[in-house]
Amino acid sequence: MSMSKTFDALVIGAGPAGLAAASLLAGSGLKTGLVTGDAPKTATNLGDSRTVALMQPAMRLLVHLGAWSDELLKQSAPLDHLKVVDDADSAMPANPIVFHASDLSDEPFGWNIPLANLQDDLLATTRKAGVHIISERCLSLYPASESVRVLTPTEQLEARVVVGADGKSSIARSSAGIQVSSWEYGQSAVVASFKHSAAHYNTSIEYHKQAGPLTTVPLPGNRSSLVWMERTERAVQLAKLPGDELAKVLQFETHGDLGLISHTGTAAAIPMTGLTALEFGRARVLLVGEAAHVVPPIGAQGLNMSLRDAALAAQLIGDAAMWDEDPGGDKVVSAYDRKRRRDALPRQGVIDFMNRSLLSQSGLVHTMRSAGLSVVSGIPPLKKFVMDTGVSPVDLPRLMRPA
Ligand SMILES: Cc1cc2nc3c(=O)[nH]c(=O)nc-3n(C[C@H](O)[C@H](O)[C@H](O)COP(=O)(O)OP(=O)(O)OC[C@H]3O[C@@H](n4cnc5c(N)ncnc54)[C@H](O)[C@@H]3O)c2cc1C
Repeated sequence: MSMSKTFDALVIGAGPAGLAAASLLAGSGLKTGLVTGDAPKTATNLGDSRTVALMQPAMRLLVHLGAWSDELLKQSAPLDHLKVVDDADSAMPANPIVFHASDLSDEPFGWNIPLANLQDDLLATTRKAGVHIISERCLSLYPASESVRVLTPTEQLEARVVVGADGKSSIARSSAGIQVSSWEYGQSAVVASFKHSAAHYNTSIEYHKQAGPLTTVPLPGNRSSLVWMERTERAVQLAKLPGDELAKVLQFETHGDLGLISHTGTAAAIPMTGLTALEFGRARVLLVGEAAHVVPPIGAQGLNMSLRDAALAAQLIGDAAMWDEDPGGDKVVSAYDRKRRRDALPRQGVIDFMNRSLLSQSGLVHTMRSAGLSVVSGIPPLKKFVMDTGVSPVDLPRLMRPA
């Protein structure tokens, strides 16, 4: 074992949240190390065609980081309209609600971006920002009164503060002694991309079905990506169907809204779980992204929340360092914990309710959900409020606020 290498800040995990946090920390002048685990996933090795819908606050962060290249833009599509269709065979289905970005501003709600290509751009920003990359797994970490020691198979590292971005089975979280509450939904998300004959007009459609929502999200041209939450058994069967058969099923389930569906790419079924860390920060360790919260892909909230975590963690750490305060001290940790839980927990609650109310067998619950959707669509100020909080929450980290 070599001598310990010392950093101001160490980030564990090179998913999108970890890459963003590391670039921001290095950008604010801190000596920053990034423990990547197995090779960071990029367009060449991710092997999954998942896309992420990022809203304007997250887009502002990408622009700030220089992670919104012309190449990435070409592979992404703007989200101008969001349509929610009550498709659960309830007794009194609500009318479809359509949210228009133009009701809020001149900009789209956000962009639908291939995750693997986003990883490429984010990885490039860490190199430019001068992040020290440590291509090993974190085995464990040991918080102490002045610093945290981080062990990898061949290195001993030390930092004043650690950002745990190592995903849902986070070692940073367990080593810091943070407990979780976690649950299963018995659902999996079928993900794939497909072609269609009708234009999507930059519209994402969320069909709320009995076994979970089926969401289509626009890609460039007449293509969209699919995130379809179904009971796991059916999801696994759907993901195994030959492309033309999956296309036929989708054709039926989307009621022809996108014309003739063809060319579904490779599909995969991703099991859905939920998780909340009981503390988002403790003992010089701040948790970001799925290390702190895992939500099903409803309303495109997951990575948007994760990037807010990354931005706030870097902001609080950077501010403390600037004022010569302890960047991993109680003040930073408790402010982070309080602010991020205030944003994440209510969102997790709403997503959980939407999902469970679809799965529920109770007619009353279905009626309440449909009534809720009808109320939202019938009262324009309420509709605007839902759009505002869905797209651009209050109390954003500084870099994510509108200019
Ligand atoms: C089907 C689906 C669709 C989604 N769609 C959207 C969407 O439209 N919009 C949206 O905002 N969000 C979406 N999400 C959520 C989004 O994909 C996740 O929130 C996001 O990928 C989580 O990023 P992360 O960086 O926290 O974690 P991860 O991407 O899981 O990254 C964790 C990283 O840590 C590394 N690691 C693990 N253990 C260690 C260790 N011991 N040492 C070092 N490194 C380690 C891993 O190798 C990995 O690189 C979707 C999720 C799913 C499943």
